[in-house]
Amino acid sequence: MSEANPWVESKLQLKKAADKLSLDPLLYASLTEPDRYLEVSLPFTGDDGKISVFKGYRVQHNNTRGPYKGGLRFHPDVSLDEVKALAFWMTFKNAVIDIPFGGGKGGIAVDPHKLTMPELERLTRLFTRKLADSIGPKKDVPAPDVGTNPQVMSWIVDEYSKVAGKKSLAVVTGKPVGQGGSEGRTEATGLGGFYCTVKSLEILGKNPKGMTVAVQGFGNVGSYFAKFAHEYGLKVVAVSDSKGAIYVRDGIEDMGGLERFKAETGSVRGFKGAKNIPAEKILELPVDILAPAALEEVICCENAGKIQAPLVVELANGPTSVVAEKTLLRGGKIILPDILANSGGVAVSYYEWFQNIHHEKWDKSLVFLRLKKKIERATDQVFELAKDYDTDLRTASYILALQRIEERWQKRRLRHVV
Ligand code: NAD
Repeated sequence: MSEANPWVESKLQLKKAADKLSLDPLLYASLTEPDRYLEVSLPFTGDDGKISVFKGYRVQHNNTRGPYKGGLRFHPDVSLDEVKALAFWMTFKNAVIDIPFGGGKGGIAVDPHKLTMPELERLTRLFTRKLADSIGPKKDVPAPDVGTNPQVMSWIVDEYSKVAGKKSLAVVTGKPVGQGGSEGRTEATGLGGFYCTVKSLEILGKNPKGMTVAVQGFGNVGSYFAKFAHEYGLKVVAVSDSKGAIYVRDGIEDMGGLERFKAETGSVRGFKGAKNIPAEKILELPVDILAPAALEEVICCENAGKIQAPLVVELANGPTSVVAEKTLLRGGKIILPDILANSGGVAVSYYEWFQNIHHEKWDKSLVFLRLKKKIERATDQVFELAKDYDTDLRTASYILALQRIEERWQKRRLRHVV
């Protein structure tokens, strides 16, 4: 089988789990396509007067369990198929971690690093106005993803509130903490991935202390995963970004220094005491834990046979192709799948939305405690189902999600003829 695009791949993952469950065929059919999607044109004048037309998307995959929920990605490679796959994964991720949201995702095909701050703000506000009828706190709640951040979210709140005629904090999550954001949201995805890793190792009867780790993508998710792993006593021996990778045999000690270095120079490359290595080599290092935390399909048929790490923690969405996964599983590797391992971010997004709706403010320790319990419970349930169905952890995660979606869907079905 050849490798396909993420949207085709995601449906293969669903089929495998649905077959094991004998899922209702009507529910299966409804999950194989998004409920709806919006493609918008964004004609835009740059600071220099040059006119460009960008394309923006919002895909609403499924809302059986609650409002559509998922990030907005600003990246030159954003396409409808990519956003469809990302929205699809959100439906299942939100069900695995058991929060009352469906799945959505959106983005603009643009390189935000090539825009000035005023340009980024104007483009975000234009996109918000075009999306305004389709989003809302009880309808569809966007959040940050690659290339967007809390500042972008606060522009969306402001612009949406103008259109809606009232201040509406809960229209997005991932806002700055002083402007309705939750404590702990910035750390949540990396920290959740770390909790999931430690819990999984405990279930497998392994001691994480001293284990070696390689992290591809030292951005929001990867850097916090590396930080928490380091603080717990794991050895983070390699990290990378889009410009290159570094390796330190005994583990990077000054994680804070590395973060500052990356903020100052734009890359991890050249960090004091570290050896520069080719970016793609990071995936093939002989480490105990490999954590891809950048983009999709980085583990593919060309390199799957070269992956040495016995445990792959999917912090990015869709980093392993279906073909590559088969190779890894045949080689006895364990994959903590994205819809479980990176679900910490959306769990805390749900806490943020809940705090906004109920006018509450939780402190960071409460957020982290609730996050830990949620991730550990989901991880336990996934490992149990993998045993019960004699299957891999991704399929078990889909089974768990499908059981939850089907339960709600059957209840709805009793009320409406579908
Ligand atoms: P980010 O933009 O903060 O970081 C991405 C990092 O990946 C950057 O350091 C970038 O330089 C690096 N990168 C890009 N291309 C690379 C390449 N070819 N090789 C190595 N590094 C490369 O984004 P993020 O928020 O950390 O998201 C990373 C991944 O995690 C994405 O797949 C995203 O969808 C997923 N994710 C993010 C969240 C969240 O809360 N931010 C939640 C769930 C999933």
